[in-house]
Amino acid sequence: MASQNIAILGATGSVGRNALAVIAQHPEQFRVFALTANVSIETLLAQCISYQPAVVAVRQRSAAAKLRSWLSAAQLNIEVLEGEAGLLQVATLAECQIVIAAIIGSAGLLPTLAAAKQGKRLLLANKEALVMAGPLFMQTINQANTQLLPLDSEHNAIFQCLPTTYQCGTPPEQVAKISLTVSGGPFWDWPATELCRITPAQAVKHPNWQMGQKISIDSATFMNKGLEVIEASYLFQLAPSQIEVLLHPQSIIHSLVHFVDQSWLAQLGAPDMCIPIAYGLSWPQRLPIQAKPLDLLAVAKLEFFQPDRNKFPCLKLAEQALVEGKSLPTILNASNEIAVQAFLQQQITFVQIPVLIEKVMQQLAGLAANTLEEILALDQRARQLALTLL
Ligand code: NAD
Ligand code: MG
Repeated sequence: MASQNIAILGATGSVGRNALAVIAQHPEQFRVFALTANVSIETLLAQCISYQPAVVAVRQRSAAAKLRSWLSAAQLNIEVLEGEAGLLQVATLAECQIVIAAIIGSAGLLPTLAAAKQGKRLLLANKEALVMAGPLFMQTINQANTQLLPLDSEHNAIFQCLPTTYQCGTPPEQVAKISLTVSGGPFWDWPATELCRITPAQAVKHPNWQMGQKISIDSATFMNKGLEVIEASYLFQLAPSQIEVLLHPQSIIHSLVHFVDQSWLAQLGAPDMCIPIAYGLSWPQRLPIQAKPLDLLAVAKLEFFQPDRNKFPCLKLAEQALVEGKSLPTILNASNEIAVQAFLQQQITFVQIPVLIEKVMQQLAGLAANTLEEILALDQRARQLALTLL
């Protein structure tokens, strides 16, 4: 097979670094052609030295200028683009066949959509982009006939359980339901009365997964699973009633598909993002990679519980947003991003995160946003309101 050029949006983050680690194991198949970062130019410089991309883009302009001087001092001839326009250019480079969308949060929407529109093979980690603009996003995928491959481990697991002829954006045949598993994060078995004392340092420490700061907080509040329920509904075109959440603290079963004949399929593996990333890169084949091996004897038991939506209301809020309206997911996502930042800066407590989100949802519930401009405007409005309510 000819080698394929890859662009990684958000290369310096947790998913981006894992993607580079997988790609480095198969230089005959993949070339790192372009990378982007927000401000982490020390990490990006190290990646430039190791992977020698042709192009990089840095969101913050002053950081881009600094990187240019470092690259020239290192005698590396790499083009440095900058700003939002630079990210969009990297997302749509004619030379790249594959784009990995791994920017965190709503900042990833425009470049991810741009890649989708170009019909790139799109490996999607940036769930917030899909939650924010689900119907428009999936319409873009369908119109451009883009191959969309989910990297989020649960959605990747569902995708692995479906036939290789299955395309995201269409309802899977003979599927009755899916179960998304949730590890529960660090606090699922804490008494409700203790949750108000949680510190940001405790909340970013996930027991099973090594992830970026924002998704780690989202995992602790269960908002991550809420966002994933919405993500699954768009990706697999399932009704909210077809998506269940199952608390599974060991994070070994990554999700399950229930077929109409009462047969279930599940995907298992150690909690290591390299595994879903490798499947996205190699689909419909599989690649041998070095990842954490699974030792079921060492794991010994797989447990399942019902998640407690009263203790962790973020899950309930996201499920409501999906059931009630097309624009509530946009509002939910925006207000969650503000609430998580406020918690990290110790402006609100852990238990106030869902309170703030619910207030914003209640006040903006009637609003609808369909076009990209309307979605971006509603996102801004929800952020402003959340900041005011803080
Ligand atoms: P991270 O915080 O580790 O990395 C984020 C990346 O996005 C960095 O490269 C950063 O430079 C870039 N970025 C941040 N803000 C930006 C901005 N305003 N403009 C441009 N670039 C910006 O995040 P992560 O944990 O790697 O998560 C990335 C995405 O993948 C998220 O949507 C997350 O929900 C999803 N995801 C992550 C994991 C995981 O294991 N980390 C698992 C499943 C899904
Ligand atoms: Mg996930």
